[in-house]
Amino acid sequence: MAQHTVSRYNSHRASLLLESSSIAHSTPDFEECPAVWDTGASYGLTPFASDFIDYKEVNIPVQDIAHTNTVVGIGTVMWKFEASDGTLLYLPLLCYHLPTADIRLLSPQTYHQLHGGESRLVEQGSWIVMDLPDLGPHHPRHKISIPIDKRGTNLPMLYRVSCDQKEQDTIGPNLRSALARHALDFKGSWEEAQTAFARKQFGMSRSWNTDREEFDFEFKTTQALFCPCVGDDANKNLSGPQRELLLWHWRTGCSMRRVQQLMVEHEGISSNDESVIFPQVIKPKFKSTSSCPIPLCAACELARAKKRNPGVKKQQAIKERQDILACNQYQAGDFVSMDQYVVNTPGRLPTGYGREGINNRYHGGTIFNDAATGGIWVENQVSLGAGETITSKKKFEQWLFELACIEVKHYCSDNGVFDSELF
Ligand SMILES: [Zn+2]
Repeated sequence: MAQHTVSRYNSHRASLLLESSSIAHSTPDFEECPAVWDTGASYGLTPFASDFIDYKEVNIPVQDIAHTNTVVGIGTVMWKFEASDGTLLYLPLLCYHLPTADIRLLSPQTYHQLHGGESRLVEQGSWIVMDLPDLGPHHPRHKISIPIDKRGTNLPMLYRVSCDQKEQDTIGPNLRSALARHALDFKGSWEEAQTAFARKQFGMSRSWNTDREEFDFEFKTTQALFCPCVGDDANKNLSGPQRELLLWHWRTGCSMRRVQQLMVEHEGISSNDESVIFPQVIKPKFKSTSSCPIPLCAACELARAKKRNPGVKKQQAIKERQDILACNQYQAGDFVSMDQYVVNTPGRLPTGYGREGINNRYHGGTIFNDAATGGIWVENQVSLGAGETITSKKKFEQWLFELACIEVKHYCSDNGVFDSELF
């Protein structure tokens, strides 16, 4: 963009030099330096820092005629024009600052795009008329006529556009910055997105103008501020793309999947239902960053962490082995399982008034399970010793006999008290 503007400037300068009328001094004069009105220039250009009412330093090397020069700034200049009714107008215009230039360049479209209005050629191409629209009570409609130097360079030239310090101080603050609008320019990227879609339809490759959308961050300074970290180039546990992804994730706060999405071109649909293609929002350094396996981020893992109970195992019953103990046991009493349980909160005995000592209360019991019928008998016990367990067993057998007139043929249990001699 800057290069383009400077090229335009050079061609005008060359034609002015050929005429050798306008550029007389080797060092341009702030008040006398002319401005060329040029729709071909993407932005304006000025050699004078004192033209600007707001300013942002940049460093863009551009190829000038003999050697490389540097555009050192971009900002809004305030230039003075005389309207056809004699009123003085002060217009804010977007310009590059190239100190080595010796003419000014005015890009009318940057003004019209921002503030409306139009320009046209009149009277067989001898004048250009800029129509400035009515913008409220203090901005009536105006006309600026710019003569074209027909005998010489055949360029529309403006003279005495510079403003003095007093004008800048009083009027400058009332003008709107052209810079803010252009930094957030959406129109440019929209056009580019449309072009990209057209190229895709014809199967042509797309190239994105990186000069236009500069969205690059320096991680180096951040790295220097902090100690060696996971995202450091020296970390060999992650691949280059993974480290880049992690840095972007930290920088933007977006999830890494989202960052990867922003790294690929994407299709969009405009309000008139036409498809367009947008360039990557983030330009990755490595090609595979948009598709590399997503690394772990310590901060995110901590944020997602949940409390877990250690040592708890979950078991799932195996389908084929369910009810394995009950199979082949057809009759009640053929197969009885036994086990004991312990209760930490002692339970009251059914007799008395609940004033028995803690040691004399129920502390557990034995459960009997008949495999064939699924019948269950629970016997509470004060102690889980063999003696009391045998009493429980007898009670169970009595219950089973009274109920079904059967005797237990086989008991099944684990070790514990059932192995004891008494039992
Ligand atoms: Zn994270």
